[in-house]
Amino acid sequence: MKQDLSLLIQALDSSISGIILTDNQQPDNPIIYCNKSFERMTGYARHEIIGHNCRFLQKEDRNQKERLLLRKAVEDGAECVVEIRNYQKNGTLFWNELYMSPIKNEQGVVCYFIGVQNDITRRKKAEMELLHQQEIMESQIRQRTKSLKESEDYLSSIVQTVRESLVVLDPAFKVLSINDHFLKTFKVSKEETEGKLLYELGNGQWDIPKLKELLENILPTNNPVEEFEVEHDFPHIGKKLMLLNAHRIELEGQYKDRILIAIEDITDRREIERRKDDFLSIASHELKTPLTTIKGYVQIMQRLMPDSADDKFKDILRKTGIYVERLNSLIAELLDMSRIQTGNIELHKEEFDFDKAIHEAVENIQAATKTHRIIISGKATNNYAGDESHIVQVINNLLSNAVKYAPESNEVKVYLSRVSNFLKVAVTDAGMGIKIEDQKRIFDRFFRVGEIQQRFPGMGIGLYVCDQIIKNHGGTLWVESEPGKGSTFSFTLPLEERNTNER
Ligand code: ADP
Repeated sequence: MKQDLSLLIQALDSSISGIILTDNQQPDNPIIYCNKSFERMTGYARHEIIGHNCRFLQKEDRNQKERLLLRKAVEDGAECVVEIRNYQKNGTLFWNELYMSPIKNEQGVVCYFIGVQNDITRRKKAEMELLHQQEIMESQIRQRTKSLKESEDYLSSIVQTVRESLVVLDPAFKVLSINDHFLKTFKVSKEETEGKLLYELGNGQWDIPKLKELLENILPTNNPVEEFEVEHDFPHIGKKLMLLNAHRIELEGQYKDRILIAIEDITDRREIERRKDDFLSIASHELKTPLTTIKGYVQIMQRLMPDSADDKFKDILRKTGIYVERLNSLIAELLDMSRIQTGNIELHKEEFDFDKAIHEAVENIQAATKTHRIIISGKATNNYAGDESHIVQVINNLLSNAVKYAPESNEVKVYLSRVSNFLKVAVTDAGMGIKIEDQKRIFDRFFRVGEIQQRFPGMGIGLYVCDQIIKNHGGTLWVESEPGKGSTFSFTLPLEERNTNER
């Protein structure tokens, strides 16, 4: 029997779990046995353990709810498992997984409790770290959601403030959202619009085959729709001219493959432009008639002036002639422009000797220019079918610009050539040049480079007219230029097939 007991004690001592027995029949349920592992685990020696209630293991950390569970189990004589914070003798925390079970006598009275404990500090630490990581991640997600929400609010406030009608479509052209300006412009409600197909809106105003084709191309090709004009009798608002731009949009992580359409009502703008054009056209016509008469009178006066006339008088008359001529060409420019605007420019295409015409034009300009030498070289063609006076007008304009905008230089070059089945003319000056951002705009009506406005006379029409004339002949006019170095204005004109083999 004694042997059995010592074997049992040896077995308990070699367990890696800490084991204790408490005597429930004595006051305060004291520990009456502990194995070696329990001493190792807690750092207390046997004599510091026996006779104590287990609570010394929690030191001051008394408010753990697990303690209530343990107390209740003792009261009920039941078993329980808890994970509880315990402290070694030196104060080091260890997590104790405590399994407590009652031992009853034959009458069923709970006499003892056996407690088996395992140090689960490492597992607990890993669990807590995981929890901590989770918390960090959750807080990052919360932060990201917040900033996404903020940027969405930011975007939507821009969308709502923009003074243009905006529509967002899904890939099937269903309206996902619209801004307030759209609602106001088209006098419609959100319910009438959102969730509907674009082509079914209103009275089918956007159901235009060409527009459909362009919009359907946006997602597959990423090509935007630019400046598409829609003139339509819209419900509620009547006949309007709308300018439409559409792009594919994507917000990373949120959505892709959406189409944003921006619609601008340009009815009034177009009307103002039309009135301005009408005014210019009427004004230039009205000015032209009396000016032609004045020009005639000046010519008569020049013819009738006696040789004996006063030098001062002769000089005044000569200058009057020059200014009348300048006024005449300004008005002619305006008339040309309004004719182009109304599509009334007439081309009188006839065959003429191109190179000869250019040489003559150069000679004429040279005769009136003392400051610059115009050097012409190369050959284009002797036989070109086009409107001679218009082509001469283009070369005159390019030459007078080359002289006007190069006051510090004294040379202008004209080079004629033949490139494939095109003739080419290039006018090069060594003048002030044109900044890259202005190079496209100088062909627009009334555009003049900012800084030259005051220094040089002009209306910003010449190049616009030249461009239109060249376009009307099927050619192109362009500029290459570097500020401070000079500019080359070139144009090409297609030669008719039968002319191309002549040289
Ligand atoms: P205008 O000469 O009456 O202003 P144009 O239409 O002929 O009108 O030219 C438009 C603008 O282009 C000019 O105002 C000038 O700023 C610029 N420009 C034209 N030709 C030249 C040139 N050869 N060198 C530099 N700038 C030029």
